[in-house]
Amino acid sequence: MPRGTVVIDGERCKGCGLCLAFCPEDVLAYSTETNRSGYNVVCMKQPERCIGCAFCAQTCPDIAIEVYREKKPREGR
Ligand code: SF4
Ligand code: SF4
Repeated sequence: MPRGTVVIDGERCKGCGLCLAFCPEDVLAYSTETNRSGYNVVCMKQPERCIGCAFCAQTCPDIAIEVYREKKPREGR
C-alpha cells in the first residue's frame, strides 16, 4: 500500500468537511484551531493511515490540500 501525507493550508480551509467525508482511511479531523477567518480547520488525526490517494485534495473546493506520495522501497520482486 502506498503511503502519503497531506499538507493543509489552514488559511485556505473553510472547514466545510468534504475532505473528512471523502477520506477512505479516516485520516483527517477538525482541529481545535481556527484560522484568521474564524473557520475550524482540518488536520491529520491519524497521519500513519494516509495512503496518498488524493481524494481529499480532489474534493476540496478551496484547493487547501496538497498530497505527497512516498513509494515504499521494495527491491528484488
Ligand atoms: S490522501 Fe487519501 S488517505 Fe490521505 S488524507 Fe487524503 S483522502 Fe485520506
Ligand atoms: S475540503 Fe478543503 S475547505 Fe473543506 S474542510 Fe477540507 S481542507 Fe477545508
